[in-house]
Amino acid sequence: MISTPALVAPSAGAAFEARTVEHRDLRDDDVLIDIKFAGICHSDIHQVREEWGSAHFPMVPGHEIAGIVSAVGDGVTKYKVGDRVGVGCMVDSCGECEFCKDGEEQFCSKGAVMTYNGKGYDGEQTKGGYAQQVVVSERFAVGIPDGIELDVAAPLLCAGITVWSPLKRWGAGPGKKVAVIGLGGLGHMAVKLAAAMGAEVSVLSRSDAKKDDGLALGAAAYHATGDEGVLKSLKGTFDIIINTVSADLPMQTYIGLLRPLGVIANVGLPAGNYDFAPGAVVGGSRVVAGSNIGGIPATAEMLAFCAEHGIGATIEKISADEVDAAYDRVVAGDVRYRFVIDTATINA
Ligand SMILES: [Zn+2]
Ligand SMILES: [Zn+2]
Repeated sequence: MISTPALVAPSAGAAFEARTVEHRDLRDDDVLIDIKFAGICHSDIHQVREEWGSAHFPMVPGHEIAGIVSAVGDGVTKYKVGDRVGVGCMVDSCGECEFCKDGEEQFCSKGAVMTYNGKGYDGEQTKGGYAQQVVVSERFAVGIPDGIELDVAAPLLCAGITVWSPLKRWGAGPGKKVAVIGLGGLGHMAVKLAAAMGAEVSVLSRSDAKKDDGLALGAAAYHATGDEGVLKSLKGTFDIIINTVSADLPMQTYIGLLRPLGVIANVGLPAGNYDFAPGAVVGGSRVVAGSNIGGIPATAEMLAFCAEHGIGATIEKISADEVDAAYDRVVAGDVRYRFVIDTATINA
């Protein structure tokens, strides 16, 4: 077994403890990654606090992983020791179904294995990125181009790919007006990516608090939706809306902001239902869509795009003993725009 220091959530909602955890010895297709940085995704918090149904403890969260390959299994061909790699939300899939063959492993018919709080096909509980090492199949490690520093690369592995997928699928680019609802971890990446794709980007946020940031991130316009008459004035404006907000939101009003044939792609998961009249989408042939992360080929494509355009996440780097406080700040929306743990600070 391979032992590594990690941040462990011992039970639902409990404070993190630095402990040594074990990973399997390398299989033929495995790489051992020395993790340098791990992003904190809001979904980590939902799982650690058991807000998404029953979770498995002790848990090592983290699916925004960036590090360096430090050992390879006998059959590994994709990577060698010293390569810079990332790991996102998945660490295995069947490799044989139509979705796996299409590089959409997240839809694997057998069920993709999640990076943590999941069970591998061998029955072992998976452990994520809040650690100094992780073992994964080379198929689920993605090369990080030299042009991106590892700390700002880590959040690309979940936040980045999550918004990249709908922007690509729905054709964000020159001549397209893209609106991003919510300027948080996902939203700030959506703004950066859509702007680099050549789209005209607007931020839709409740208040003006993040206006300077939104414009600096690449948005052409920023609208405080809590202000009187703002939403009304934007009727029929956008080709694509990326909704990153996990709070209840007047969907019918936002659908109304779309031009004919426009699409609102939802990546947030509010507890309640969206409410809109059929006429809101039938009129104008509008689309209400969802999007769930992205496959390994798309992740590699996104990372190459980020390197080419000099894009990384905007981060606050923290040490292991600051993670509990960081969780509360994420829940309060008080982070600009992603916390990234320096895993060297984990003392187990
Ligand atoms: Zn995530
Ligand atoms: Zn599959």
